[in-house]
Amino acid sequence: MKEISVRTSSRVEMVDMTSQIRDVIRESDTQEGICTIYCPHTTAAITINENADPDVASDILMKLNKLVPYREGYSHMEGNADAHIKSTLVGCSEQFIIENGKLQLGTWQGIFFCEFDGPHNRRVWVSVR
Ligand code: ZN
Repeated sequence: MKEISVRTSSRVEMVDMTSQIRDVIRESDTQEGICTIYCPHTTAAITINENADPDVASDILMKLNKLVPYREGYSHMEGNADAHIKSTLVGCSEQFIIENGKLQLGTWQGIFFCEFDGPHNRRVWVSVR
């Protein structure tokens, strides 16, 4: 397993980490296999979506913020209940196919780390098998 550090700069943000994941797969020298990406945080997530037009990520965050407002009479004392809910909605892991040593993604797809309670120094675990 390899650990990647992600430094986020806003409370809510999507960070494109596709090239870092491609580097991990290249360094592993795996030709055929599965890559699992796991986020070990309760207020962040991992997702796949379009990384060609940055408006797609900002639209996703805008809609998530409307669906799950920052302040809305939550019970959780820490004050970041919205971030926990967004983490569960988006999910903390993704899995990919490696073929001929390459990460198989659709033309417009990228891999994003989703920050919901930043800014933070975060970690992402990557396993290539
Ligand atoms: Zn909390």
